[in-house]
Amino acid sequence: MNLKKLPKIELHCHLDGSVRPETIVEISKSEGVNLPSYEIDVIKSMMIAPMECLSLDEYLKGFEIPIAIMQSKESLKRVTYELMEDSAKENIKYIEIRFAPLLHTNKGLSTEEIIESVLDGIKEGEKKYDIKGNLILSFLRHMPVETVYEVIEIGKKYLGEGVVAIDLCASEHKGFCNKFIKPFLLGKEYGYRVTIHAGETGIGENVLDAVTILGAERIGHGIYIKDCKDAYDIVKDRNIALEMCPTSNVQTKAVDSFEEHPVLDF
Ligand SMILES: [Zn+2]
Repeated sequence: MNLKKLPKIELHCHLDGSVRPETIVEISKSEGVNLPSYEIDVIKSMMIAPMECLSLDEYLKGFEIPIAIMQSKESLKRVTYELMEDSAKENIKYIEIRFAPLLHTNKGLSTEEIIESVLDGIKEGEKKYDIKGNLILSFLRHMPVETVYEVIEIGKKYLGEGVVAIDLCASEHKGFCNKFIKPFLLGKEYGYRVTIHAGETGIGENVLDAVTILGAERIGHGIYIKDCKDAYDIVKDRNIALEMCPTSNVQTKAVDSFEEHPVLDF
């Protein structure tokens, strides 16, 4: 099977994990952002997680450089447009792009400007290529809960205009869902759909929480429902889609090897 020719949908794509290294170097020069190196190969090696990461936290370090250059309207629009272009060339027909708006305020952009710049990039990509895109607003679990309300309030005017859902991501500890009950229920009321990274690094119960108390309709990874029967059952009963990435799961040491990955059992 020629995977490139196969028309695809991409439901779990992190904007800051999808930036072209060449673009990073160009933007850093035009916007005066200091990088540890301006050699494409060096930047590339710093962005691409090795197969032998020690943990999810080490894996997440790869996002630091892209985020450093994604601090202006122009750069946000450009990297989003380029992601649409790259995806269209891989024959992806529909993509949901996710990113955390609050990581892009270093140079003073407002949350509106940040969201609009990314939506502009999506729309420009849609105009030029045979691809449709939507946006998921992510929150890092260690962020203060007040900031979540802020983004949910501002993002709601873009619902139906490109914004479709909210998400929680980054390092995972047991019971993280409790902190986000109120803002996520409010978000659901406003019309956001909900997908949440959970059960990625060992804690299947978090998937149960994400579905039952935060109303998740999809789960990022969810591989550890393999060790939690209640979570496994609810995912199956409610037709919750698991957005799994075996490559990343091996890199982050969520599983030791591809052979041990539960995707085929599921
Ligand atoms: Zn993810």
